[in-house]
Amino acid sequence: MDTVAAIPKYNLNEEQEKKLILREYRALLRSLKPKLKPGDKELLRHAFEMAADAHKTMRRKSGEPYILHPLAVARIGVEEIGLGVRSSICALLHDTVEDTDITLEDIEREFGSEIARIVDGLTKISNVIDVNLSQQAENFKKILLTLTDDPRVILIKLSDRLHNMRTLDSMKREKQLKIASETVYVYGPLAHRMGLYNVKTEMEDLSMKYLEPEAYREIARKLAETKRERSRYINEFIRPVREKLEKINYEFEIYGRPKSIHSIWNKMKKKGVSFEEVYDLFAIRVILNTTPDKEKEACWKVYSIITDEYTPSPERLRDWLSNPKSNGYEALHTTVMGPQGKWVEVQVRTKRMNEIAEKGLAAHWKYKEGTNDESRFDKWFQQIREVLNNPDNDSIDFLQDFKTSFLAEEIYVYTPKGDVKMLPVNSTALDFAFSIHSAVGSQCIGAKVNHKLVPISHKLRSGDQVEIITSAKQKPSEDWLNLVVTAKAKSKIKDALKEEKRKVADEGKYTLQRKMEGMGAAFNQHNVDILTVFYKLQSPLDLYYQISIKAIDLKELKDFQVLGDKLEPPKPVKPVTEPKVDAGIPKKDAELIIFGESSDKIMYTLANCCKPIPGDDVFGFVTTGKGLTIHRTNCPNATKLLSNYGHRVVKTKWARNKEISFLTGLKIVGIDDVGVIHKITNLISGEMKININAMTIEAKDGLFYGNVRVYIHDKEELDDLVERLKRLPGIETVDRYDTEN
Ligand code: MN
Repeated sequence: MDTVAAIPKYNLNEEQEKKLILREYRALLRSLKPKLKPGDKELLRHAFEMAADAHKTMRRKSGEPYILHPLAVARIGVEEIGLGVRSSICALLHDTVEDTDITLEDIEREFGSEIARIVDGLTKISNVIDVNLSQQAENFKKILLTLTDDPRVILIKLSDRLHNMRTLDSMKREKQLKIASETVYVYGPLAHRMGLYNVKTEMEDLSMKYLEPEAYREIARKLAETKRERSRYINEFIRPVREKLEKINYEFEIYGRPKSIHSIWNKMKKKGVSFEEVYDLFAIRVILNTTPDKEKEACWKVYSIITDEYTPSPERLRDWLSNPKSNGYEALHTTVMGPQGKWVEVQVRTKRMNEIAEKGLAAHWKYKEGTNDESRFDKWFQQIREVLNNPDNDSIDFLQDFKTSFLAEEIYVYTPKGDVKMLPVNSTALDFAFSIHSAVGSQCIGAKVNHKLVPISHKLRSGDQVEIITSAKQKPSEDWLNLVVTAKAKSKIKDALKEEKRKVADEGKYTLQRKMEGMGAAFNQHNVDILTVFYKLQSPLDLYYQISIKAIDLKELKDFQVLGDKLEPPKPVKPVTEPKVDAGIPKKDAELIIFGESSDKIMYTLANCCKPIPGDDVFGFVTTGKGLTIHRTNCPNATKLLSNYGHRVVKTKWARNKEISFLTGLKIVGIDDVGVIHKITNLISGEMKININAMTIEAKDGLFYGNVRVYIHDKEELDDLVERLKRLPGIETVDRYDTEN
């Protein structure tokens, strides 16, 4: 009988709850055991008791006692990230200053300044949610400042976030969407950047579970269904390799590992293929145990054994032994043709490399001790600090810039002398120029990549050798901002533009001064502010600049009055009464209702980027001026909107309505055959009575590619149409397209 186990935790009585909490605490102690030094146990006990007491009246959304959360966060930190005693103390206390009567001073008094500083960092970044955008970006900046201050803050924060993601089920749907979006947008990439592959993967999978539940369940189901078949194949693949490895007397492990649901999904989307067509659903991993001096040699030896058995694909060899990623990742990856002509990815690494791959930063430190290798993390922190210290940095842009320049995958390129530079993916020759020096960037007119002349916008690829060509006459222009991805280049270009603008503005300032004095008004802050507001500009600098480039001709100045030496703006002409918009009565028969508010119908527009139709999983986004815009939750922009502007998101759902139809695009691929168009149109407009808005067909190499735009009432109808189209003879795939292209 498992009735006892089925009782939810919040039904436990006080005694049982106490036992559960103590059990969790002891489990934490057990994990920490190898790291405990004299006195540590007492400190931990003290932190635990202090936190338990402070949170004693609080419960989580699930009904559990709150203290189970800090305990779980501490355990994740120790067991999955490799953190130690002091970090565990911080994890236990991480929510106390924010949510209870305990103050930072209390913590400093009890545990010293190091722990107090980390808890302070965690408190500052604890509430990234539920604030307005600029504050959120500001918060994110804070995260990064504390990160570069003491990386343990971010590692504990990642444990905290992972536990929140694991327990997201008990939250409301809109909270789930918000937290999940934020996780894929910021924390997943951050975990990746810290080298925590497992944490990153789990965060992505859990986010997908909430953001795209259907696709998630579908792939999970198919993975489970194909499990036996897959392990049979993996065994078949491994057998001959294992035999050979045993002969050369290496201590090793070899196993197959399924790829994450999220990465399979990404591949399906990126390549436009079905689950069945994703060839590498798993990777084979070989982990070697060797001494540090033999690592590289041993990995290549294994590579040689594998490629003797199976033919490798030459484009898919990745050597991160000679050039580790800047998050510390080292390994050798190759893709080989396995049995039955299937491509299989093989990853070869040593035990040490594997630990770094799984525990990232923490493991990196462990191995770094005693060496004087300049840490890649230190370099990275240094770069972040450089950007953060720029006071002109707009924090909202900063969030986006930060993502593209610090969290993206990287490429490595070479200077003419052979020095390696790491740059984020999609970096251009111009980014490279700025990475060398801002003066080189500002005067860049082109580059030679692998000895070939290219424009400054040229996108670089790993392994390129780049030489920058400069001219003293060159200067940055506005459109350069679109040519770079690194934060450094962006901020340097902005600085230069501002400087340039200031020079131009100086002339406008002079013009204005003369004009105002001619009118008898003083040229002072007060009067300039009045004009700035009048012309609806951001700053006096903008005003001077607009005057200088003659975008403003100051004709309106004659309508101003001068009282004393003060300017008085002309009285606004009474505005023409705006035509009364029949507020509340929607333009078209609406089929949306907002949750939680009233069930009244509301005004909205459908987002152009994802073209939702009734039945789609959607959310509403409050836009300035346009009211509510409806997006699909799997819209390509959704993550960004949800994580950046969470407070402007409204939960919405469709009401039933059959009167209105929505323009939806379908991409159909099939075998080019006489009559295929007829079959398609016959099904759509003949049998299903669905109106076609446009249709184009292109034939190439015996295949046809059709684009059909149809008027659809709801998702049900669309699904039905897609199903029936797929069943037509010769049709290979039918996909709805997300965007206008
Ligand atoms: Mn927490």
